[in-house]
Amino acid sequence: MNDAMSKHAEGDRPTSIPADPSQWSDQSKQSVAFHFRRDYSDKPYTCWRCGAACVFTAQDQKYTYEVKKASIDQSRKHCPACWSESHQLRAAMVHNETRWASEKSTLQTDREFLSGWLDLLTRWKEFEPYRQDVAKINMLRGLLGLK
Ligand SMILES: [Zn+2]
Repeated sequence: MNDAMSKHAEGDRPTSIPADPSQWSDQSKQSVAFHFRRDYSDKPYTCWRCGAACVFTAQDQKYTYEVKKASIDQSRKHCPACWSESHQLRAAMVHNETRWASEKSTLQTDREFLSGWLDLLTRWKEFEPYRQDVAKINMLRGLLGLK
């Protein structure tokens, strides 16, 4: 199993490659997987947003965990297109959070800002249905006088 290098029928891209957990982030090294993970295998998944069939490839996993040092618990939820859209959305939300922190007194009567932010948070639901900022959505709806 250790040196398994299975080949995929569709090409010469290996569907399984050896893992080197010594390259993981310190946090990942605390995980149970650190003691038994010996390889990465292609992981098929379905995009949460658009339902596209995707594959988190063994090579992507190696790069994600060993080079980018992402948490070993991190997996893929979105296809590449939805991922980049969610990235833009998140950046816009962070931007609004930052403005809110410093200009709250003027922004809380700025309907354009408030409804734009509410729109972002509502669209976010498509990407992260289980990670909604309900308190913020309610606050914005309240400030906008929405039910
Ligand atoms: Zn998608």
